[in-house]
Amino acid sequence: MSSARNDDKTIDIPDRLYDASTKTNYKRLRFFGKGGFAKCYEIVDVVTNNVYAGKIVSKKLMIKHNQKEKMTQEITIHKSLDHPNIVKFHSFFDDNNNVYIVLELCKKRSMMELHKRRKVITEYECRFYIYQIIQGVKYLHDHRIIHRDLKLGNLFLNDDLNVKIGDFGLATRIEFEGERKKTLCGTPNYIAPEILNKKGHSYEVDIWSIGCVMYTLLVGQPPFETKSLKDTYTKIKKCEYRVPNSLRKTAADMIVAMLQSNPEKRPRIGQLLNFEFLTSSPVPTSLPSSCLTMAPRPD
Ligand code: ADP
Repeated sequence: MSSARNDDKTIDIPDRLYDASTKTNYKRLRFFGKGGFAKCYEIVDVVTNNVYAGKIVSKKLMIKHNQKEKMTQEITIHKSLDHPNIVKFHSFFDDNNNVYIVLELCKKRSMMELHKRRKVITEYECRFYIYQIIQGVKYLHDHRIIHRDLKLGNLFLNDDLNVKIGDFGLATRIEFEGERKKTLCGTPNYIAPEILNKKGHSYEVDIWSIGCVMYTLLVGQPPFETKSLKDTYTKIKKCEYRVPNSLRKTAADMIVAMLQSNPEKRPRIGQLLNFEFLTSSPVPTSLPSSCLTMAPRPD
C-alpha cells in the first residue's frame, strides 16, 4: 500500500511554491526522482523563468531519527559551497508541511543511470568524469568538508555531462586539524573499512569511495559486491577485490592506490591528479551527450 501512502503525501505538495523571504514564486513541473526522504521536482521561477531542482522533504518524515538536525546540517554545509563540480545550492524555505530546497537542476540525472545503461565505460570517458569528481572533492577537502557518501547516484550530470556532486546528507565538517570522526548516522554505499571498524575516520573515506566509483565505471560492477550487505562488509574489511586483467595498468594502479585498507596509505585528493592515468593522455574537456547511451567513436 506504499503507493497509496505516497499519493497522500503528494497532496501536501502544492503546485505553486512560495518563498516568502525572497517573495519568489515557483511553479512545480515534472517529477524528477525520489530519495530516502526527499522528492525532487523540476521547478521554475515564474518571474525569471530560471529552472531549478526542488528537493521537497515532508515534515512528517522528519520527526524520527533526529532527521531535523541532519537536514539542518545538510543545508548549513551545502549552502556554503560554490564550485562548478558541486550542485549549486540556491535557497531553501518551508511551510507547515514541507521543507523546500532549491538546487541547480541536473537534467541528465546521475552517473547511476549512466552506469545502468552503459555498464562499462571507456577509459577516455572515465578520465573525463574522474577528473571532475577529483576537482569537486578537492574543493570540499580544501574547505574541510568530507562528503562521506560519494556514489554514482550522488554524482549528478548537467546538460553538458559535467559532474555535479550532490546530496550532503552524510557530509561533515572537520573542526580541528587531525580530527577523526567517530560516528556516522546512515549507510554510505561505498563505505570505507575504517568506518566499519569504528576506528575513527577522516578525508580518506572519500578517496576510498572514488576508488569504488572508478572501479565500477571501468569494470561494470562494484569491487566488493556480493548478495548480502554482511558479506560485502566482510570483503571490505579484508580489502578483498579482484582487479580484472582487462584493466590497463595505469587505471589499475590508480584504483589499487585508493582501495587500500590503511587510510594513511591512500593518496590525498590533490595527489590523485598526478597519477599516470590522468597525466599520460589529455583529459577530455567535453563529451557528446550520446555518451549517455553509447561509447564515443575511437579516434
Ligand atoms: P535523499 O537525500 O532523500 O536521498 P536525493 O538527494 O538523493 O534525496 O534526491 C532524490 C532524487 O532526486 C535523486 O535520486 C534524483 O533523481 C533527484 N535529484 C536530486 N537532486 C537533483 C538535482 N540537483 N537535479 C536533478 N535531480 C535531482
